[in-house]
Formats: sequence, C-alpha cells, structure tokens
Amino acid sequence: MKSAKMHGKTIEAGAGAPERAMCPHCGAEVLLRRRKNIDGESWYWRQKAGESRGCPGRSLTPISNSYRKEI
Ligand SMILES: [Zn+2]
Repeated sequence: MKSAKMHGKTIEAGAGAPERAMCPHCGAEVLLRRRKNIDGESWYWRQKAGESRGCPGRSLTPISNSYRKEI
C-alpha cells in the first residue's frame, strides 16, 4: 500500500518516511519497503505476512464493506 498511519497522520511511502508505521485498515504494523523497477524505484508499505490475513488493505483493490456483506 502507498499510505500508512502514524500518530493519527497519513504517511506516504517514500525516501523520507519512517521505517515502521501502522496499517490504516487493520492497525497492524507495516514496514517500509523499496522496490527497484525500470523507472528507478518505488516505495510501499508492507504488512507482516501473519498479520495481513483478513486485512482489507492487503489487496490492491480494497473490498468495500457493502461487498463483504454480500459474501
Ligand atoms: Zn492491514
């Protein structure tokens, strides 16, 4: 994910961002990660594997509450 929360503020992933923050969806800890690609590098927040289960922010297209009720 591109944005995380810390002390109630939204923080975009990037070079100046802190190493750890909080998932805005489920409150679990997320770690800052850098991925290299053709255009240079991209930054993103990554949730720990064991804590991402059931988190709506895990997928790139968030599942809305109304959609969840239909399942
Ligand atoms: Zn989460």
